[in-house]
Amino acid sequence: MTTATLNEKRAAAPVTDTYTAAVVHDFAKPLVVEPVAKKQLLPGQIRVKVEASGLCHTDIHAAHGDWPVKPTPPFVPGHEGVGIVVELGPGVTEVALGERVAMPWLGYACGTCDYCVSGWETLCLEQKNMGYSIDGGFGEYATAYARYVVRVPEGVDPFDAAPLTCAGVTTYKAVKVAGTRSSDLVAVFGVGGLGHMAIQYAKIAGGRVVAVDLFDDKLELARKLGAEFTVNATRQDPVAEIQKLGGADQAIALAVSPKAFEQAFGSLRRGGTLVFVALPADNEMTLPIFETVLNGITVVGSIVGTRTDLREVFELHAAGKTHVTREVRPLAEVNTSIADVEAGRVEARIVFDLS
Ligand code: NAD
Ligand code: ZN
Ligand code: ZN
Repeated sequence: MTTATLNEKRAAAPVTDTYTAAVVHDFAKPLVVEPVAKKQLLPGQIRVKVEASGLCHTDIHAAHGDWPVKPTPPFVPGHEGVGIVVELGPGVTEVALGERVAMPWLGYACGTCDYCVSGWETLCLEQKNMGYSIDGGFGEYATAYARYVVRVPEGVDPFDAAPLTCAGVTTYKAVKVAGTRSSDLVAVFGVGGLGHMAIQYAKIAGGRVVAVDLFDDKLELARKLGAEFTVNATRQDPVAEIQKLGGADQAIALAVSPKAFEQAFGSLRRGGTLVFVALPADNEMTLPIFETVLNGITVVGSIVGTRTDLREVFELHAAGKTHVTREVRPLAEVNTSIADVEAGRVEARIVFDLS
């Protein structure tokens, strides 16, 4: 049986009135895995039978209500959901039943504002986000806007596609924003879900990579994925170690710690660029004005990536250029999985199996 006919069979499977999902009811309490009512599709929406769904640290921030703009409970997290289209809402022409799609953080944008039409849909003020303002991928089904899902090409495993849908596209974009060129030294702070992909995209752009984390096994993975230098920040000062290498042309802050942002700044060479990506609950860092000016430093924020960026990420993966390190678990383990990510006990990414 071809994948297409298999997918058509899945598409034909009956959809029940409720489905099981992991729900946040209270920022201070664990998620509850429970039945959730299926909602009728609005124009432009599709229903997706979720197969795989990655656990991003953003889902943990969402579940804890860590950020200034909070989601409204009850809600279902998850913005690395990948699955098969099983129902089309009114007017949908962009995808067909049986296709495999990814449902990224950018769940909806207006499509007509200056940001949307100039390649910056991720800055659209009308945007809705999967797993935040739209119920996300931590369930057997999810609803999504057909225009904002991205087709997963044949040859990309859904369990790889899931982490690529946020960790992949976000760091791919961050390396683009950093402007990495051949022979640049790129400092990657934090070798988690995002960091393990950032190392690979920095290498693809021609950079040489120094990876920083608090755990030796993560640094071991960083070396396997192409980092030339590693620094364990619990034993060595990353600023001094990276300055010994000549300083970083770009530093990408992926660690959930303002201290790591300050170290990333200190690790730069003159003219260097610091890219903010991680979003720690503690929303402040010290940025010295004098050194930023005298050293000609650029500081730039980078938020996920566009649908085009994600298509490129899938293409690179289908071509065998990237490797996704992931551990598959049942959704019932959502709360222990969150605890494991927070404690640094996960090699790179956990992906829930909903198939
Ligand atoms: P993760 O928990 O998988 O990875 C974080 C890594 O940082 C871990 O390996 C941890 O050991 C390491 N770390 C923690 N403190 C450190 C320190 N002081 N120095 C060096 N390393 C340290 O998290 P993730 O899923 O990769 O997400 C990382 C952050 O990026 C989160 O805050 C998440 O919300 C954010 N994020 C931002 C975007 C965006 O578009 N800007 C997209 C996705 C995720
Ligand atoms: Zn817009
Ligand atoms: Zn994410």
